[in-house]
Amino acid sequence: MKNTQITLASRPDGMVKATDFAIAKKEILQPGENQVTVETHYISIDPAMRGWMNEGTTYIKGVEIGTPMRAFTVGKVVSSTTRDFSEGDLVSGMWGVQTHATVDVKTLSKIELGTESISWHLGILGMPGMTAYFGLIEKGKPQKGETIFISGAAGIVGSTVGQIAKIYGCKVVGTAGSDEKCLYLQEKCGFDATINYKTENVDEMLSHHCPNGVDIFYDNVGGPLLDTVLTKLARGARVVICGAISQYNTKQFYGPSNYMKIVSARGILTGIIVFDYIAEYPTAVKQIKRWISEEKISYEEHLVEGIEKFPEALKMLFTGENFGKLTLKVK
Ligand code: NAP
Repeated sequence: MKNTQITLASRPDGMVKATDFAIAKKEILQPGENQVTVETHYISIDPAMRGWMNEGTTYIKGVEIGTPMRAFTVGKVVSSTTRDFSEGDLVSGMWGVQTHATVDVKTLSKIELGTESISWHLGILGMPGMTAYFGLIEKGKPQKGETIFISGAAGIVGSTVGQIAKIYGCKVVGTAGSDEKCLYLQEKCGFDATINYKTENVDEMLSHHCPNGVDIFYDNVGGPLLDTVLTKLARGARVVICGAISQYNTKQFYGPSNYMKIVSARGILTGIIVFDYIAEYPTAVKQIKRWISEEKISYEEHLVEGIEKFPEALKMLFTGENFGKLTLKVK
């Protein structure tokens, strides 16, 4: 058996394309000291991957050309040289878009699986779920009765933020790119109102749904939408910049011209990087599992099957074709 890898073939110029990636077949290496070999079961497809394809370093170094694309992964240990990990252990890590990997055990975490699918540890119980939890609670600081507006609300981060904000007693409004996604947010996630940003006037609808202004803006989209929301801030508003998916494939990021509205609102503009909260993940996982079991949080996955589908699946994040947490099923 060989290890099938999807490697970065070239750095994209604009929108990601299939030719930015190549397929490689490599030998599966035997584990050395303190290493294990893992087989991949699921691979997370995340908007951040677009930034990792660029040259240089932001909060993390860009992927080297010719190496497997970086990705969050879950799978099973198939060979081990250490007592700490046994064959059959389920693990999560970041071993990239490949069917197998031989890695240092310090890069892995064991997964104690309950009734959930292991793939959930890439979504609601993994990095994006943690982003929603800590971004909202630590940076947004939600208070009962406040109004939160979430852009990119139908995604894994946005829909989880909205549902946690409901638990905190907020009024929740969000944008999504189709009526079907808007309906899902209202009916399954308990959003009070939604705006289809492709067919409705966001400026007008925001004033309509948030007559007393926006106390928390959780931004996943950036660009001109951020500018619009800045004009609607309530006094003391918190603007949490989580991402800017509308800008990831552009050559020049759009910057907000309405930033002085932060001053008049006596507001706070802040950013979140989920990795800053790694030590606190277990607490958040426990809490989110409890909310799921109490049916306070609902979760959708969008599974794409086959490692060779990675390039086309990644593109779906930027066209809005994904409905739920986009995940590649490998085994
Ligand atoms: P996601 O929302 O599940 O998928 C991306 C969605 O973005 C698409 O389905 C699409 O939905 C929307 N979108 C794509 N292009 C758009 C555009 N030009 N304008 C408006 N919406 C657009 O992805 P996710 O994993 O939950 O990530 C959401 C955001 O969180 C991203 O910005 C990501 O970078 C960020 N993030 C940040 C951290 C951190 O630590 N700071 C960690 C994880 C994720 P529509 O159909 O609604 O257009």
